[in-house]
Amino acid sequence: MEDQVEEVKRKTDIVGLIGQYVALKKMGRHHKGLCPFHSEKTPSFMVNEEMGLYKCFGCGAGGDVIKFLMEIEGVDFREALERLAEKVGVKLVTRKSEFGSDKQKLLEVMELTARYYHWLLTESKAGVEARKYLNERKINDKLIETFNLGFSLQGWDNLMEYLTKKKGYSEVVLEKAGLISRRSGGGFFDKFRGRVMFPLQDSGGKVVGFTGRILPDLAKEGEPKYLNSPETEIYHKGRILYGFYQARQAIREIKRAVLVEGQMDMISSFGAGVTETVAVGGTALTDEQIELLARLTSTIYLSLDADEAGIAAIKRSAELAEKRGLEIKVVQIDGGKDPDEIARNYPNKWREMVEGAVDVYEFVMTRSLEKNDIKTMSGIKKITEEVMPFFVKIENSVMREVWTKKLAEKLGVEASVVKAEMERIKSGKNWAEKYPSKATEEVSLMENKMDKLARRLVGGLLICPAAKKKVEQWLKNTKLSGAAGKALLWVLASEEVGPAKIAELAPSELKSFIEDAYMAEGEGETEEKDVLELAVQLIRETIRESRKRLIVEMKKAKEAGDEQTEEALSGELSTLDREENKIMVLLG
Ligand SMILES: [Zn+2]
Repeated sequence: MEDQVEEVKRKTDIVGLIGQYVALKKMGRHHKGLCPFHSEKTPSFMVNEEMGLYKCFGCGAGGDVIKFLMEIEGVDFREALERLAEKVGVKLVTRKSEFGSDKQKLLEVMELTARYYHWLLTESKAGVEARKYLNERKINDKLIETFNLGFSLQGWDNLMEYLTKKKGYSEVVLEKAGLISRRSGGGFFDKFRGRVMFPLQDSGGKVVGFTGRILPDLAKEGEPKYLNSPETEIYHKGRILYGFYQARQAIREIKRAVLVEGQMDMISSFGAGVTETVAVGGTALTDEQIELLARLTSTIYLSLDADEAGIAAIKRSAELAEKRGLEIKVVQIDGGKDPDEIARNYPNKWREMVEGAVDVYEFVMTRSLEKNDIKTMSGIKKITEEVMPFFVKIENSVMREVWTKKLAEKLGVEASVVKAEMERIKSGKNWAEKYPSKATEEVSLMENKMDKLARRLVGGLLICPAAKKKVEQWLKNTKLSGAAGKALLWVLASEEVGPAKIAELAPSELKSFIEDAYMAEGEGETEEKDVLELAVQLIRETIRESRKRLIVEMKKAKEAGDEQTEEALSGELSTLDREENKIMVLLG
């Protein structure tokens, strides 16, 4: 398997593949273009043919051809690999344990079932009523085809008969697929009967489950309006977004996903031209679903019911999404209607409502202000209780500040008062861990600067190995830690440092550091003097850092009256000064 992945990667033309999505221009060693994963006006997205890698220096996206396809198409590793393998003519040998024949069989049977239901809806006499129902709901033939809608017969065993007698599947497989249920007296019966069928597809378009909506004329007492497939080996409801397969292209292009509740909402919205819509399908939004969307966009428009439960769901979704760095907006629906009704009857209005979506923090605050009387003490108390705990969780501190100020304005109090109250709410939780103090922030900023310099130096050395000899001599006494240090050692110690050599490294922090370094350089011509200049900067920076650290520690020792330590540190400082002088002489 490992070899086959490598073979597929090697045979795939990365510039050709990415070129289908991004206009690329050859620049030095790389191809360059506008990043498809974040919006930008000047290109910072690089593709390197020799390395078989892409990297965006704006948003950090990067990887190989498989990763690219996963992210741009929203498919999983397996699916991306299969698609590329097919293109380059590599026949994948699958291990039974990994992709068991069982799973394969379930997928086959689901595909057959979807086709059978679809045929019943579109071609058979039995489907007339269901067709009428859908047409009344303005779901036309084109939408029926796009979403592969179907109809399940009213009888108890039509599907079972078809799949066992005509197609030769066992009842065991059908039960595993969640298509039939066990009778208490023995035997089985069709799970879905007299329903309009919505196939649930995974991100690669494979049918993994169904939702069935009862035909109103056939509804019986005590039967649920909507019925879903149970969780099976191939269907995990938390991982599926209804309509994702059909909407993925639009989501990537329009750079947002509109999230609605039910299948009907999704299809009507899609039909109204909001083709970037997906449905959560009656469950709370999960991390996995957010992950799916985050592969394609960084903005989600929530369009969920605005009742109490709905608001709670909106808040929860916003928290999850914010953690993943996504922006959340809320489509405000008036008049207690659902997206389905509006999109179906007033498509223009629906599109306008989507365009007019507001920031989730704005939404929560405005709603609370509308609902509660700001002139009464109890009203103000209610507002603070509803809004502040939500604002406190905003991870981006600038955003948190902005919204705190807005809330203070609305309440007519000083921002500092609201802030103090938020601090109080915060302190109830383990806040220190989540929000490190200024000191640690500074340290990480510093590390970033050193890292950046080291990365550029490594990149320079990769492209211009002629500079290695001098740099090695200069850096003899400079200690660098982490991946940066390891990468420098590697590049200085290796005889040959071309792309082929880098590819041989085992996947690790070191390898990705070196890959990034390589991708960051090489757009223009890097000459020896540029590389040496980088080395000088890096040495200066390390010395400056060491001096700063020593002075701080000396001060501490002095305050503590620890003369011995103070003396030792002072000795270190003089050594450092001598070191610096030596290096400066060396550098000329
Ligand atoms: Zn980017």
